[in-house]
Amino acid sequence: MGIRGGIDLGGTKIQAVVVGDGADVLGSSRMPTPTSGGPPDVAAAMAAAMRDAAEEAGAGTGDLEGVGVGSPGVVADEDGTVAAARNLPDWEAAFPLRDALASHLDTKVRLGNDVQVATDAEFELGAGRDYSSILGVFWGTGVGGGIVLDGKPWLGRSAAGEIGHVVVRMGGRRCPCGRRGCMEAYAGRLALERRARELLEKGQSTKLFEIMEERGRDRLTSGVWARALKAEDAVAEKLIHQAVKALGAGIASSENLLDVEAVVIGGGMGIRLGEPYVKKIRDAMTPHLFVESNPPVVHVATLGDLGGAIGASLLVKR
Ligand SMILES: [Zn+2]
Repeated sequence: MGIRGGIDLGGTKIQAVVVGDGADVLGSSRMPTPTSGGPPDVAAAMAAAMRDAAEEAGAGTGDLEGVGVGSPGVVADEDGTVAAARNLPDWEAAFPLRDALASHLDTKVRLGNDVQVATDAEFELGAGRDYSSILGVFWGTGVGGGIVLDGKPWLGRSAAGEIGHVVVRMGGRRCPCGRRGCMEAYAGRLALERRARELLEKGQSTKLFEIMEERGRDRLTSGVWARALKAEDAVAEKLIHQAVKALGAGIASSENLLDVEAVVIGGGMGIRLGEPYVKKIRDAMTPHLFVESNPPVVHVATLGDLGGAIGASLLVKR
């Protein structure tokens, strides 16, 4: 039986897994993404995480059929490079990640887009497995999207799935991408934190930043938002309400275009806030659905935090 490796390369953490046939995780390891150095340091940390995961699975990395990587930025699997991974240290120019990792790991390496591989994992093994066409929506620091149509990933010319930058309000709030009115400007965690700070400076009272400090965090994580909502913090409730409205409009508009059977909502915020908020998103979609009588099913992602890494391991089979 073959075993495969998968690595989810994120801005804050590197998650590595070893997967057997199917979704059974035989070993896993997580480490923080280096915040200094450059791509070679990140590649070394990825290799170290992969070695730890392999060790937990009772194997060496050379025993793996291969290792797949889900990466942010512009991923060119044929060239083996990743460029413009802007949430990673000093990673603008194309870096030969495939060869750098292969030399550390002594096995073949495949590269894919982080959001697309997470969507592929939900499609093959998770909440999307009963459908032939799905839209994956990853609600986290930003809002990413992945598309599977008739069983095949739809990558467009390489940049498909950028659902976070679907416009939900002409001339609206400034998005982290620099444009105005994108869904992410209302729903992404980075944008939400900026807005919460503005409201705090304007004198609105909120427990968000106290909770952040109590939890020993330096930013408003999904867990901080979840705790503030539980404490009925008015600013958190207002901003998450706006986020849900924006997600509803953006996802419904995308559904009007694609007419997929199912929408799978993952990402740090999606998984942490879970079904009660997915229900709110479903309700927020309804007024915008052109064929209101036949809405798509909307599920929470079932592979959780490991979905990206498990999805990356699927690249080895292709
Ligand atoms: Zn944008």
